[in-house]
Amino acid sequence: MGMSVRELIFVLELFFPPELAIQQAIYVLGVMISLYPILRLHLNQRQEPHQPIVTGWMKSFRALLTHAFVQEADGVEAWTTGINLAPEYAGYICGDLDRLYALLGLNENSPNDPASFLFRQPRPILSTSRLNCKFCPAGDLNLVPSLRRRRKGSTQSVWLLDSSFHWVLADIVVAPSHCAKCKADYYPDKITRVGQGRQRSELLEYDPEFIRVSKHGVWVHRRVAVAQEKALQRFHSGWSNFADWVNDTTDDINVTFTYRQSQRLFLEHWSRRLLIAHGKENIFTCDAFCTAKVLAETVRKVVGKNGGIVPMALSHGCIDCTHVKRYRQADHQPAPANLPETLAQQEAPPAGSPCGYIRLAVMDGKRLNHRKCALNDCQNPLVNYKNGRFCETHLHLRNTCGIIPCGRPVHSPGALTCDQQTHINWHKQYENRFHRMSFPGVQRVIRRQQEETRGPSLQVQLQALGDTPGEQVVHTFKAKSIYCLQTVQWACGVPIGWGKCYRSESTPQVLSILNKIWEDNPQSRPSFIGYDKACDLLRHIVTQDPNDLWLKTTKFIVDAWHYIGHRATDVLCRTRCNPAPTDGSQPDLVLTETDDNGVAHQTRAFNTETAEQLNSWLNGFESQLRQMTDVNYDFFVHVLMLLYAETVEKRVAEKGRELSEEFWNAVNGNAVDVEV
Ligand SMILES: [Zn+2]
Ligand SMILES: [Zn+2]
Ligand SMILES: [Zn+2]
Ligand SMILES: [Zn+2]
Ligand SMILES: [Zn+2]
Ligand SMILES: [Zn+2]
Repeated sequence: MGMSVRELIFVLELFFPPELAIQQAIYVLGVMISLYPILRLHLNQRQEPHQPIVTGWMKSFRALLTHAFVQEADGVEAWTTGINLAPEYAGYICGDLDRLYALLGLNENSPNDPASFLFRQPRPILSTSRLNCKFCPAGDLNLVPSLRRRRKGSTQSVWLLDSSFHWVLADIVVAPSHCAKCKADYYPDKITRVGQGRQRSELLEYDPEFIRVSKHGVWVHRRVAVAQEKALQRFHSGWSNFADWVNDTTDDINVTFTYRQSQRLFLEHWSRRLLIAHGKENIFTCDAFCTAKVLAETVRKVVGKNGGIVPMALSHGCIDCTHVKRYRQADHQPAPANLPETLAQQEAPPAGSPCGYIRLAVMDGKRLNHRKCALNDCQNPLVNYKNGRFCETHLHLRNTCGIIPCGRPVHSPGALTCDQQTHINWHKQYENRFHRMSFPGVQRVIRRQQEETRGPSLQVQLQALGDTPGEQVVHTFKAKSIYCLQTVQWACGVPIGWGKCYRSESTPQVLSILNKIWEDNPQSRPSFIGYDKACDLLRHIVTQDPNDLWLKTTKFIVDAWHYIGHRATDVLCRTRCNPAPTDGSQPDLVLTETDDNGVAHQTRAFNTETAEQLNSWLNGFESQLRQMTDVNYDFFVHVLMLLYAETVEKRVAEKGRELSEEFWNAVNGNAVDVEV
């Protein structure tokens, strides 16, 4: 028999000091129950002959109980009178344990697990944390309208994955709190209100404790979203993996965390994180109760479609990517006079005046793709990412022979070619070569071919079609992919922005990505951009517009590895994109240091290896990104860039690599030797 309130009152009166704080009394009561197994060990030992009255077990019991009386919760004083009577009361309790546990209903027959006896957690209540309307101005008596419960409000049980990763039942008032004046509805994680055209629109709560992840009443504590974020960062774990892991660890047969719910959690959490990072949290609205797809689309529209920036990165600076500007020394060797493309050299400013600073960014293309329309020249996303081939505009082509430029109708609905036997046969052998191969299979083949031939393309022997060699046959048998993800990052690794190249890493596309990234902040442009094809890009810029701002703000250089292949061929290369000229013409890139023996050595001023770490981290997401729709791809890349930028910023702060006061003094030309 368990105890009733009568026994509880008796226990409290007998064994607890009246001045003990309530929180402490309830805590001690719980500790007493959980200490029961130690008492059992004591009693068991005492049954043997010649055992002491107070065993070692009993000494531990007493010490733990004394400690429980003084172990205060945050901000609650255990002994309200200020006099600590813990040892005294622990003594009373230990002197009368038999009676006490009898009253509590614990005896040898009780299960050894005192948890079965312990206080149950109350069911969480899911409700808005607001009390008053967010939109309505103060009215009569200067009061902002309070939030009301609707007349038909009833409570409902929902499943909640709580902060300790347990599924628990929680209660939610089904009809939400609402403002009687403006009719806004308040949910734990969002607010809905009548927008334009009577369509309800939704605003997010940006710091919700609970997030709804399913229409059918499944909620998740925000700690789970944080765990999902960390799993992404540390283990490259996407939402499906994370859901599997949650189910493996919760081991609850009644509820499972589905892929869809995990994806929803990812979307809800990162929509908030991205909107805050982009400073758009106050203007963002979407359709009330929209699907995951619509939410992702709406957020993408705000933070950037097919490309974007990491807002905080534009103004980033640290000692690994930002240096005080250096000027050419007077005693340098003159540059060869016969070169047509010499650099205008800036004269060093007089001592004491500002010399400014330079920052180096690195750009390259990464093979992180998503699928797109099967027509080579079309950049549009697929209508159907499950097994579709065409974009909205070219959807009608599914009824036309997939071999271009045949143009005849397909021989039967769903077929990929017309009824010409040569086309049917060509498609069949194509299928046999390609379609059975999974994505990892294709990757393996490409990797092997790269190792053998150092060529980047997948070459599988295809039959010729008439006079056309097999690999030159143009067809629409399957969706194509974008060519690469183009990223720009500071030399220290902080990502700045990104865009997509569609058919090749062409200079016009690359230039437009750069233009887009610094569109609103031309003053934040880097002084140097390291890029494999710097010379091509530079030539394109000059040809297109000799007055382009880039020519004044930024020098494009080639990274050291690629420069080996450039150097000999081209004057523009030699003078403009050399990453480490030894003639003293680029003092920002090459440092001359004199060693102990008085010998001068030239070293490179920036180490761009840290930028490579972003590449290897991103590569871990390749197969996940490949499965995604263009919308999810964009959303995911925004997430990865923000997450990585935050990670590097944190490391910069931890390692003390921020720009120092001395740095700014030198930049601004302030005298450094002023004593403060
Ligand atoms: Zn209101
Ligand atoms: Zn940096
Ligand atoms: Zn298309
Ligand atoms: Zn045909
Ligand atoms: Zn490179
Ligand atoms: Zn070059």
